[in-house]
Amino acid sequence: MKAAVFHENNEDPRKVVKIEEIEIPKIKHNQVLIKVEASSYNHDDLWGIWGRPIKVPLPHISGSDISGIVVDVGENVVDIKEGDRVVGHPNLTCRICVECTSGREYDCRQRKIWGFQTGPLWGGFAQYTYLPEVNVIKIPDNLSFQDAAAISMVGLTSWHMLVTRANIQPGETVLIMGGSSGIGIAGIQIAKLFNCNVIATAGNKEKMDKCLKLGADHVINHREPDWYKKVKGIAGRQGLDIIFEHIGKSVFAEELGLLKMGGTLVSTGATTGYETKLDLRYLFFRGLNIIGATQGSRSALEEVIKWTSKGKIKAIIDSVYPFENMVMGHVKMMESQLFGKLITTPQKL
Ligand SMILES: [Zn+2]
Repeated sequence: MKAAVFHENNEDPRKVVKIEEIEIPKIKHNQVLIKVEASSYNHDDLWGIWGRPIKVPLPHISGSDISGIVVDVGENVVDIKEGDRVVGHPNLTCRICVECTSGREYDCRQRKIWGFQTGPLWGGFAQYTYLPEVNVIKIPDNLSFQDAAAISMVGLTSWHMLVTRANIQPGETVLIMGGSSGIGIAGIQIAKLFNCNVIATAGNKEKMDKCLKLGADHVINHREPDWYKKVKGIAGRQGLDIIFEHIGKSVFAEELGLLKMGGTLVSTGATTGYETKLDLRYLFFRGLNIIGATQGSRSALEEVIKWTSKGKIKAIIDSVYPFENMVMGHVKMMESQLFGKLITTPQKL
């Protein structure tokens, strides 16, 4: 089979990521073999290639977001059959620790992100790959492979932030920071699924228009110095119920002043910097909740797949790359601003 492999780290993916012929993997008793139809890109693919902030096993195949057809199953596989259309859930966890068995598999100490921390040669940018049965979810016939691969990680992360962690309720006022990012696109749609009043932010006019098309009720340019005053004007005196946050240092201090009493800020990233100031008076006098989130559970992904197949959440795809040219997707992710996901199609060279 063909796979996109790198044997060493480099700042320029074109220098190290090559399409190579390798053996089709052999599966264990609890695993399924998947013919990969679509594989989408994430920033941790770049971290793997760069070798920072952590080293990944080499030689490496990146890719944590896949969909495809099951072509073989191990002897102890129960629910998944050959011919099933599936999407991968990239959180590999132990399934027996206290966190896993209390429904918080995302807090498992042994959690690994498949395609990033796994290997050697175990990821989604390949014509065939394998996962434990528990890490694949069947997808309905009306959901395309490309849409399934495009929505899985961003949909999972955003669902986990808003539903599992922030406990979103119908009719709340929700601020989606960076609404045109991968998780922001999913966040806007999930908040609208709950009939919330959604204020999104974006960095320019074109992206702001796209946020409105996705269903945001209001959109603000977060690059303008008085952006938070505009949010305040929309939210009114009561303030925001939830802030969906992944921008970090440049906006965090202003964000806290926007939350209502008992409001919740849920954070999953910090693209402008990790260190920030926190006025503790806001925290205790207002009874605020500041919570973290990372990825999400298998059941969260099942919800995302269900609502995407009903057309209530839309997968947004920026570009599709033939597999032989897939490294250009990594380059595009480094060099340009995207609206939606990048996809490669391993069966289509
Ligand atoms: Zn565990």
